[in-house]
Amino acid sequence: MRTGVTPGELVSDEAILAAVAAEAGWMEELLIRLVEAPTVLGAEEAGQTVMEEAFLGCGLETRSVRLDGRALRDAEGASPFTWDVEDKRNVVADWPTGDGAAGGGRSLILNGHIDVVPPAAEELWTHPPFRVVRDGDWMYGRGAGDMKAGLAAMTGAVRALVRAGYAPAADVQLQSVVEEECTGHGALQCLLDGARADGCVITEPHPDHITVAQVGVLWFHIDIAGVPAHAARASRLGFNAIDAAVEVLAALRRHEARLNEDPPPPFDAFEHPINLNPGMISGGDWPSTVAATCTLSSRIGLYPGQDPEEACAGVEAAVAEAVAASPRLAEHPPRVRYDGFSCEGSVVDKGEPLVQTLSGAYGRLHGERPAVEATTATTDARHFIRMGIPAVCFGPRGEGIHGIDERVSLRSVVESAQVLGLFVRDWCGLVPGRKE
Ligand SMILES: [Zn+2]
Repeated sequence: MRTGVTPGELVSDEAILAAVAAEAGWMEELLIRLVEAPTVLGAEEAGQTVMEEAFLGCGLETRSVRLDGRALRDAEGASPFTWDVEDKRNVVADWPTGDGAAGGGRSLILNGHIDVVPPAAEELWTHPPFRVVRDGDWMYGRGAGDMKAGLAAMTGAVRALVRAGYAPAADVQLQSVVEEECTGHGALQCLLDGARADGCVITEPHPDHITVAQVGVLWFHIDIAGVPAHAARASRLGFNAIDAAVEVLAALRRHEARLNEDPPPPFDAFEHPINLNPGMISGGDWPSTVAATCTLSSRIGLYPGQDPEEACAGVEAAVAEAVAASPRLAEHPPRVRYDGFSCEGSVVDKGEPLVQTLSGAYGRLHGERPAVEATTATTDARHFIRMGIPAVCFGPRGEGIHGIDERVSLRSVVESAQVLGLFVRDWCGLVPGRKE
């Protein structure tokens, strides 16, 4: 469906909106295939194969950017990790500039993550989490919202423009990355690979707003060694590691409360911006035995401008507070380990041309500009921002993210893609695609 595009011709809103709308079915098909690939940590490849095919289906050449554990460990902005990453890859596609593209346009990275979090509690889902179910405008499945719909939208937008005969006037790279939910090392590896642009849009499920600020995140694991004994003689002989973990958690909650007392802007808009989440606990091995071990794995946020090292010091001080209050705990001091997220928060100025241009594109479809917001979560945006590349989040409407019965509005997928189509024209410029 190539049309006769001539250089210098301004592509109309209507032409872009129609071209993207025509890809609605293709985006939905892609989204189904992505959601039915259960790409939890360590199993991302099934989804990357689908994305590789999708990029090829847009007429783009694809490339694998393999994770390099050693390079990542040495990189600024990396998080500690103990698992193997050597068989993992990001899939990227470069959308080449078209005829008469000499100068003028601004380059762009469109980024999405293929990894999803586990289903939380599969038995609570109405339908199996990795089998797609449609109900009206909603598509259900783990990762449907966070953020396979975003991957489908950004790819659909580019496909529509390519098929209509357009190419960007500056380089555009599409990235499907791994490990966003634990370290962000997929995106970091793309940057180590040399990815650079004048701006980056991450199509996370941030509907009707553009996210310009985010907290940092620290994962920490507290190992407590108890003294096992028969439960009948627990008070005299044993030291229960699970009881001790409860004391440590109470101290961490006091630390969390202090961090939320006086939040700096823009996080003063939130009632409780810094969240401590005890996410996993394991310990003990028998109901009638005093628990000999307990490991508590948690996540806590940190404000932009705060170093992750400071966040570590805060956690360790809270643990020390618990130890100081308990002579028994002092005899068995907990050990704090770091594995996974250890990352800073980040902020992009609302006045950045990237924000203004994306906001304008949204406004032309929806009749009003989107909100510009902060989030109390982290995203891969921080890696780009650290490298001086303004990066924001904007994408389809998802619900139940990291929860039960996650779903995404299919209409919002198309509308997000339409906004992205307009945005690519306004940010990069559109010129005729090269004739093969
Ligand atoms: Zn996400």
